[in-house]
Amino acid sequence: MKKTAFITGITGQDGAYLAEFLLNKGYKVYGGFRRLSAQNFLRLDELGITNKVTLVETDMLDASNLVRTIKEVKPLEVYNLAAQSFVAHSFKNPILTGNVTGLGVTNLLEAIRIIDPDIRFYQASTSELFGLAKEFPQNENTPFYPRSPYGVAKLYGHWMTINYRESYNIFATNGILFNHESPLRGIEFVTRKITNAVANIHFGKQEYFDIGNMDVRRDWGYAKEYIEGMWSMLQADEPGTYVLATGENHSVREWIEVSFNFIEKEIIWEGEGEKEIGRDAKSGKILVKVNPEFFRPAEVENLIGDYSKAKNELGWEPKTTFNKLAEIMVKADIEKNK
Ligand code: NDP
Ligand code: GDP
Repeated sequence: MKKTAFITGITGQDGAYLAEFLLNKGYKVYGGFRRLSAQNFLRLDELGITNKVTLVETDMLDASNLVRTIKEVKPLEVYNLAAQSFVAHSFKNPILTGNVTGLGVTNLLEAIRIIDPDIRFYQASTSELFGLAKEFPQNENTPFYPRSPYGVAKLYGHWMTINYRESYNIFATNGILFNHESPLRGIEFVTRKITNAVANIHFGKQEYFDIGNMDVRRDWGYAKEYIEGMWSMLQADEPGTYVLATGENHSVREWIEVSFNFIEKEIIWEGEGEKEIGRDAKSGKILVKVNPEFFRPAEVENLIGDYSKAKNELGWEPKTTFNKLAEIMVKADIEKNK
């Protein structure tokens, strides 16, 4: 019989890739989506799998709906990827973020506890838990210090997952994933914002783009590889917590420079702080402008992950380098913007 998986947040970046991956593994895939006035299956369409998955209307805010869904779908594995996932938005919508990204996890765990505690559960934890990081690189034992309503909500979901494992013996696992990107990444996240702007500039559709703090550093990997790690975590003998990362980090500034290299532009930086700009070395045109609107009330300056546990216990390793990731994303955005 086919294995059945239920993915919350199937319309998001990871949800779409995970659905594709599980379909290829022979799973029957159910995906939770929110009712909106206009449906948003763009990513599933892009992967050509909208008709291959069974879409179920679910909202993380409605516990009764989640109980009904778990009862009807009867999944063997549940991947909780749904969240208000954008840090900047969480500062403006801290209560919504707490309800969806935090309490939503409990709504789903309760549905599993009530309907079928033998379900294997994956919670999408995040490197944002480390925030003002207490050690470098960060691993599963590094103390947490979240720096945004998003990070705090995710910390609650992280501990509830551990609590349901310890209290009810549920196979509940946390993947602490460092930033992972792809051509399906939301346009508001910094990597995709930049690669999309670079493609627009290439075609003369945009003159320059605004940016926030360019000196922050992130450990950026390729989303397609990270969702394989999620699946491996649920195939392990025991539930646990695993970091997925590349073990390398780079600044936003470097991401900008590398992205422009693919359209053969070199950036020369001028000025400092809020006055800083990036010019095209050849034409002198301004291509990048710092805009304080994109600064955050509290910043996560520097993250870098240690994925040794995932490597040793799951055999998981990242493959795509920083440069290659930027190339994949710039090329995809050039193709889309043609
Ligand atoms: P996205 O923002 O692309 O996707 C989030 C998904 O959650 C979307 O499908 C969205 O639906 C859904 N969602 C939002 N609110 C609700 C709600 N109230 N009820 C049901 N569904 C809802 O995130 P990613 O795919 O990038 O990330 C997947 C998960 O992993 C998230 O939980 C994220 O916080 C976490 N994570 C991501 C990292 C990354 O670098 N990408 C790093 C670490 C953790 P809709 O399309 O309708 O908005
Ligand atoms: P995050 O790590 O989940 O917050 O992912 P983002 O891609 O949203 O942001 C990564 C880092 O880039 C953060 O430290 C942001 O402050 C920084 N950053 C700088 N400029 C921008 C910008 O214009 N947009 C976004 N989203 N982030 C920016």
